[in-house]
Amino acid sequence: MPKTTVRAAWPLPLLLLAAALLLGGCAPAAAGPVAVAVDAGVDSAAVPAATRPPVISTGVPPSPTPAPSATPTAPPALTASPTPLATATPIPSPSSRPSPTPDRDILCSQRLPGSDLLTIVTLTYGLSRDFEPRGLVPLDGYLPKEVTLGYPTQLRHVAVGPLVRMIADMQAAGLHPFIISGYRSYSAQAIARQKWFEEEPERAAILSAPAGFSEHQLGTVVDFGSPELPEVVGQEDIEFHTYFYKTSEGMWLAENAHKYGFTLSYPFEAFEITGFFYEPWHFRYVGVEMATHLHEAGISLTEHQLAEEPPPCIPDES
Ligand SMILES: [Zn+2]
Repeated sequence: MPKTTVRAAWPLPLLLLAAALLLGGCAPAAAGPVAVAVDAGVDSAAVPAATRPPVISTGVPPSPTPAPSATPTAPPALTASPTPLATATPIPSPSSRPSPTPDRDILCSQRLPGSDLLTIVTLTYGLSRDFEPRGLVPLDGYLPKEVTLGYPTQLRHVAVGPLVRMIADMQAAGLHPFIISGYRSYSAQAIARQKWFEEEPERAAILSAPAGFSEHQLGTVVDFGSPELPEVVGQEDIEFHTYFYKTSEGMWLAENAHKYGFTLSYPFEAFEITGFFYEPWHFRYVGVEMATHLHEAGISLTEHQLAEEPPPCIPDES
């Protein structure tokens, strides 16, 4: 009997269950033939205007204030951390361009040796609930309180040295950067997202990513603040605002962060590629080589990943 006949004879619930298992990335070995669709190359201009996301073109931004619980409260994982399970989980997303199909049979080490810093996270490719990065350390052991604001912010150790050097150079230049947010666990992101919806329901979807789809879960992302922001925006309690790019700290970071290995994840008007609005305060550590490449090419990490890197893979469990 031909296989097609067998599959067609499956009851619908079984087919749906099988599909759900594949999408959930539960069983790599069970993933059937790999449908490789490396960067389908669909021209975003072909997207009907009605479905195109809005673009912030005026510089008039969302003016989020941080959710109180956005800062992680979990204790630092200084000992051996649980096995990372950064499963790329594709979900339909009308606001992002077609992405490569994840290949669950191939480990990242076979694709991007030593480059777990480049794990793709978009509104299409998320991280599993269980994913916790290795080597998280509390920043207050490395930076003074005027920089950490006394928040229990954590970051992966690999990014801390470059961050400390960058902050020191900023301070030497007369600047006063501070860090509003770093690592956020899956559950912390879920709580933060919920608070956004309670406090600003109309903009919550713009101001925060769903749990599992925030780069902050990687532990290599920092949200910076500037003491100039309230005056620039004209609002006393503001901490996040697109006008961060107008502050001395924002301008310095835009020009220099790549020299320390940090890249701006969500550049101006890159919405259709990243799925996120302009966030001039949100920097991700990717290493000096990659950050410099992205800076010189004038592209976002996501754009590079979708165009140049192989489809998402299974991060190593070592
Ligand atoms: Zn951020």
